[in-house]
Amino acid sequence: MKKLGFDPAKVKYVIVSHGHAGETGGAYLFQSRYGSRIVMNDWDMVDASVNGYPTGKPKRDIVPTDGMKITVGDRTVTIYLTPGHTPGNISSIFQVHDHGKPLTVVYSGGTEFNFPNDVPHFDQYLASERRLASLAAAAGATIVLNNQSQFNGAATKLRMLKDRHPGEAHPLDVGTNAVARYFKIEDECAQAVRLKLAASGITDAK
Ligand SMILES: [Zn+2]
Repeated sequence: MKKLGFDPAKVKYVIVSHGHAGETGGAYLFQSRYGSRIVMNDWDMVDASVNGYPTGKPKRDIVPTDGMKITVGDRTVTIYLTPGHTPGNISSIFQVHDHGKPLTVVYSGGTEFNFPNDVPHFDQYLASERRLASLAAAAGATIVLNNQSQFNGAATKLRMLKDRHPGEAHPLDVGTNAVARYFKIEDECAQAVRLKLAASGITDAK
């Protein structure tokens, strides 16, 4: 953050999409060192973890509700509860500016199917992602981000920035149709696994 010219001590809110280690790892540091408020819905997962936090667990802080808005200055992030990837998984919609041009981002909080693989869990995942897809469409989101950059090609797209010609869209600004296709692919992959589970009779993996 310092390399990019940002001061981590000024971070007021850290919005954590879900309670897996890759997402919560820095929460304790921000909370204890900088007094940042931690917004997370998977506090039960964090509390239940026995040895997942060798350097310290973040303390339970802000619990988001569906549609909650977090505003800092003139920027607002709207949070949506999208259970599936984890029970408390959250997603969000917010605006960014590309050289002054406002662009809407949909942030999908959890992508992989590393939850109990049974039909009810996939039904929940599908319902959440379908709802998020329609919220994104209604908001006119042209950028889709998620918690793991390999699923939105962010690393490649950011490398493309240096070859961007004047007037060209930002590589992450893929348009509403591509955002819809992202959700369609995610939906069809989840349906495929759900069908396989249903065919093999795995209706409850617990
Ligand atoms: Zn995860």
